[in-house]
This record gives sequence, C-alpha cells and structure tokens, in this order.
Amino acid sequence: MAEAWMRPKMADLTTVTWIRGPSLDRLTVVSTAAGVHHCIVRALRNTERDGGCDGCPRRHSPANLMCAMNTKGVTFATEAAFYDFHSRRLVPGEWHLVDIQTFSGSLSRESWRRVAAVAAAATGAKLVGM
Ligand SMILES: [Zn+2]
Repeated sequence: MAEAWMRPKMADLTTVTWIRGPSLDRLTVVSTAAGVHHCIVRALRNTERDGGCDGCPRRHSPANLMCAMNTKGVTFATEAAFYDFHSRRLVPGEWHLVDIQTFSGSLSRESWRRVAAVAAAATGAKLVGM
C-alpha cells in the first residue's frame, strides 16, 4: 500500500481508464483490491477543460478528431460520473471516494469503492464524496 501512495508520475499513466465529468479529469486505475480501485488522477489544464478536451489520453492534440475540443466543443462527459475513456459509456454504480492524496501539480491519487452495482440515480451512475 505504501508504494501505491508514492507521488505519481506522468510515466505511470500508461493508459486512461476513465474520464470524469464534468471536470474531464482522467483516471488510470493502477490496482484493485478488496473492491477498492486505486487511481491516479490527472487534472486538465484550464484551457483544455474549458475547451472540452475529452478524447486525448495525454495533452490535447489538435489532430485528434475524437476530441470535442477540435470539433463541436461540447463534451459527452457531462454527468458527475465516470465514463469509460474508450467506449465513452457511463460506468454504472454508486462509487464512494474512500481516500485521496493530492500533490503539487496536476496529478493526485484517489481510491474509489463501488458500493452498489447500479446507483439509485437517473443514469445509474453516481459519485459520492467529492
Ligand atoms: Zn483533446
């Protein structure tokens, strides 16, 4: 556990697992234990967030036609929920934030536990604790 809470590095973000609306934070699930998903979270730059960058795994790319910042400027990730970064589908469930560790810079760590397979919300997806 101690190692998992070391300061994250950009190199740890080998893939993006989830995108979170409406901030468009990127989350990489680095391990799962006892139902808790340990994640590295990357916050976007303000210009990327405000522009609706929702398709770029790393910094915004003007060539990425899957990114709303290059097309309509309106992101798909509008709910306060996790979306699968690749399929863009809502990740169902009621998720509780059980731990968070912030550092200077854009990277932080969060641990989330899914307490119900489907949330009692219109979308079936809900984040609790943010
Ligand atoms: Zn982008």
